[in-house]
Amino acid sequence: KAAGKATWRMYRPDADVSRSAFNRLSWKDRIMQALESDGFELHYQGIYDVNTRELEHLEALVRMKDVQNPGGVIMPGHFIPHAEKTGKIVDIDRWVIKRTVELLAARPDIPSVAINVSGRSFDEPALPEFIGSLLRLHCVDPRRLLVELTETAAVSDMRDAQRFIDALRATGCTVCLDDFGNGFASFAYLKQLKADVLKIDGFFIRDLPHDHDSQVFVRGIVAMARDMGKTTIAEFVENEAIYNMLVDIGVDLVQGYYLDKPTRDHPALRNAASA
Ligand code: C2E
Ligand code: MG
Ligand code: MG
Ligand code: MG
Repeated sequence: KAAGKATWRMYRPDADVSRSAFNRLSWKDRIMQALESDGFELHYQGIYDVNTRELEHLEALVRMKDVQNPGGVIMPGHFIPHAEKTGKIVDIDRWVIKRTVELLAARPDIPSVAINVSGRSFDEPALPEFIGSLLRLHCVDPRRLLVELTETAAVSDMRDAQRFIDALRATGCTVCLDDFGNGFASFAYLKQLKADVLKIDGFFIRDLPHDHDSQVFVRGIVAMARDMGKTTIAEFVENEAIYNMLVDIGVDLVQGYYLDKPTRDHPALRNAASA
């Protein structure tokens, strides 16, 4: 247009040029661009009752759309660490929360959705209030939202963390400590942070059938959680041997490739949509 009306140009898509343009962007710029241009999407993985195999929750896992590869996605392992370093994680988490509450409002047939909130947000007292007001706005039962707190960095201020969790629980949603057992301070967290659910880190689950120490650990956590009135979830349930062992140990809920993989169009979203 700038070149005038009666002109034309040959357009030759040049993958190398767009690739290097994208590669020159910092992760912060890529994340900001994605936030502004509908550049994220959610994939869903089931969390099932270990005995009945009924679906209890769908965990929403964020991906960045890959602008260089339409239809492809960039996994959170690549961009979440940068988002946490630059503070952009709070904006990503808000986007996920908004999407999820809208989904829960539109789909009363879905029992519950689990979302991940970064421990980086513990010093963001506005976040629990954001969740509470969205749930009220959309008239969604807060018990249908499970908030998984992921502690990628050690919690620097236990009082901030406890205040954050108390505020979350005051909205009526359920609070889960994700990746439990990963990080040596976990027992201190268990004593001080009033979470409802413990998700045992996949590190202890994936070689459960062959690793005696993992068995001792998982049995111990499950027994302790039961006495404390908390629910347990095992992640990374990759095969039948692991699954059977978890039935024997008495964990409450299971999640992993043996049951399903995270997908854009999880069967639970598909089936009820056509009903
Ligand atoms: P997470 O919350 O512990 O999620 C479990 C991760 O393990 C997911 O990876 C999932 O795809 C993968 N997984 C599930 N079942 C199996 C299995 O049987 N075997 C193996 N090997 N892996 C399994 P994903 O989607 O790459 O997410 C990685 C992490 O990124 C998550 O770990 C979570 O900490 C973070 N994350 C994902 N979405 C969000 C989000 O919306 N906000 C925040 N703050 N963090 C997120
Ligand atoms: Mg999680
Ligand atoms: Mg986890
Ligand atoms: Mg993990």
